[in-house]
Amino acid sequence: MTSPRDVHDSGSGRHAPASDSDADRPAMRRLREGIPASPGIVIAPVRVLRMEVPQVPHGGVIPEERIEAEIDRFRKACDAVREQIRTLQRATREQLGPVEAQIFEPQLVMLEDPELIDGTELNIRENHLTAERAFEWRVLEWEAQWSHTAHPMVLDKLNDLDDVEGRVLRYLMGVPEPELASLVDDQMVIVVARDLTPSVAAQLNPARVLGLATDEGTRTSHSSILARSLHIPCVVSIEGLSETVRDGDELILDGRTGRVIIHPDDDEKAHYRDLDFQMREWEQELLLLAHLEPTTQDGARVDMRANIDLPGEAQGARSHGAQGIGLFRTEFLVVGRSSFPPEEEQYRAYRQVLEAFPDHPVVIRTYDVGGDKFPAFLHMPKEENPFLGWRAIRLCLDEPEFFKAQLRALLRARAHGDLRIMLPMVTQLSEVIETRRLIAETSEELRLAGHSTDPECPVGAMIETPAAALIASELASHVDFFSIGTNDLVQYTLAVDRGSSRLAHLYNPFHPAVVRLIHHVAQVGQERGVEVAVCGELAAHPLGAFLLIGMGIPSISVGPAALAEIKKVIRSIHQKKAAVALDEILSAETSEAVVQILTEHLRADLDLDRFALSLWGAN
Ligand code: PEP
Ligand code: MG
Repeated sequence: MTSPRDVHDSGSGRHAPASDSDADRPAMRRLREGIPASPGIVIAPVRVLRMEVPQVPHGGVIPEERIEAEIDRFRKACDAVREQIRTLQRATREQLGPVEAQIFEPQLVMLEDPELIDGTELNIRENHLTAERAFEWRVLEWEAQWSHTAHPMVLDKLNDLDDVEGRVLRYLMGVPEPELASLVDDQMVIVVARDLTPSVAAQLNPARVLGLATDEGTRTSHSSILARSLHIPCVVSIEGLSETVRDGDELILDGRTGRVIIHPDDDEKAHYRDLDFQMREWEQELLLLAHLEPTTQDGARVDMRANIDLPGEAQGARSHGAQGIGLFRTEFLVVGRSSFPPEEEQYRAYRQVLEAFPDHPVVIRTYDVGGDKFPAFLHMPKEENPFLGWRAIRLCLDEPEFFKAQLRALLRARAHGDLRIMLPMVTQLSEVIETRRLIAETSEELRLAGHSTDPECPVGAMIETPAAALIASELASHVDFFSIGTNDLVQYTLAVDRGSSRLAHLYNPFHPAVVRLIHHVAQVGQERGVEVAVCGELAAHPLGAFLLIGMGIPSISVGPAALAEIKKVIRSIHQKKAAVALDEILSAETSEAVVQILTEHLRADLDLDRFALSLWGAN
């Protein structure tokens, strides 16, 4: 067994220098909040992982006659590293599945990228540098180009680049690859890192790693995807955590709320142990509901569908009782990729989800890129306000080649079930009309190419901007359904960045302005016979579900983990009573009043103490 030479407890990494004395530690806030990425509560000591790129020795100039040999050495190193990554990718595919294995793809693409490879060779040839030095220089240049943005996608890419750089340099310098599994073999730990590269995450031993917490990342970054697949509780995007904690520090990690408590006291530990126990008991109870009908006490039926980010999640959603998919986010196909995803790969992903739900609707959202999700191949412009910028349906309509490949794959996949196409971030009628025109054109092209396609494929608009909500009547003439995306609707209505922890107290879906917009859309839907669904997080909140059912919304879509809990709400309440509460709610003046009215009414039918109500001040 090789020793883990460049992953260690608390030494200094290039990105994360750690100090040795307690006095140098950043002031410690004990309660830290991040993005909940994989549910579960754990209490355990910390193990900080710092990935280090080996130090390249100074000097490193070579004579003219060694240049070709040096280039050859560099190429061999790249070949060897590609092979290492492919081996890991194969192991990940066997252990976790094809989608998880896909996350190694960006690293393989980097190792083929002429900018990196030819750039390094040029450094060797023109500057007479050793392969190590030439490669290190080229990577530094790349990092400098990217690192002016703190964008999560770019950070993911930097993370991949670190991984690739470490591997190539270790190979060139004869440093053995670390055996990460052995690092945490001796005890149960919560691994804390700046971020986890796929190759690190895939090598962690899930029997020993009880939890994961990272400074960076998003719900869809590599560490989150792998944590969910491995059922490891995980919180990401906790700013500076890996700089704050040390090996052995005790931590409570709550992957459901995104909270971490450093050095918890006995009362906090007792509270979370109790919470964990209750959660497990509650989960057992909820499991029994999976295959019961989502019908209220007075017989109103609500369709319960699932939100998924990856095709592999469809089966799990089904076993949790989902009756179809209400939101399949397709960005995983493009994010972190340097090249366009082939149509065939897209088609297979959509088909996989449809095959999991042969008798139910599967709503697939077209690419919601831009904002915080940048595919490298689109060469996105730098924008001051990317969330108000070139994103989602706007971008797709401006890039018809890119968009039509997705539409082709979707229309072909419709042969396998009740596929419905959903458009994100609609603000203009023309966006729907133009997409419908492109769908008709694509469908005709497919027909001429010998495919059997259905020109009547249902098309819906996401209602996630106030503009879309307020023109719902006009949109109703052009769409088959609405799906209200409350996550963005709240952000755009209240002018509050949904990712800002500083503004989190202002981000409130129970704000009367949001409630009234949702109600307006629900009414338009009923009057015009257009199905209204809700797929934002509001639907996964018991008070939110009660509110939506009171509005007569017939379909809600939540993450698989929330399905059973929300079904419990539906089966416990009376739709007519919820509708009575709505009258009061619509005249409420503040978010607090809305929450209070909802809580009072819901408490009459449900023991709310067992639900996770910590969000949005609803306790
Ligand atoms: C939403 O905005 O509510 C939504 C469901 O989409 P996303 O969270 O992917 O932006
Ligand atoms: Mg959205």
